[in-house]
Amino acid sequence: MPKMSPVHSSDPNNNRHVHHDNSACTEQNNIEAKWRKSGTNNWPLCHHCKTLNDEGK
Ligand SMILES: [Zn+2]
Repeated sequence: MPKMSPVHSSDPNNNRHVHHDNSACTEQNNIEAKWRKSGTNNWPLCHHCKTLNDEGK
């Protein structure tokens, strides 16, 4: 189960204000390294990560 510490994108062009906590999330994987920050930034969990978590993936 690829649950991981929460990360979010600090990309100023990112208007998806969510955090990710599942390493299988494609959106999470698309965050460029320079914009990848740890923590939730008080943003809600990404719906894709939530689905993966709920499916136990
Ligand atoms: Zn996600």
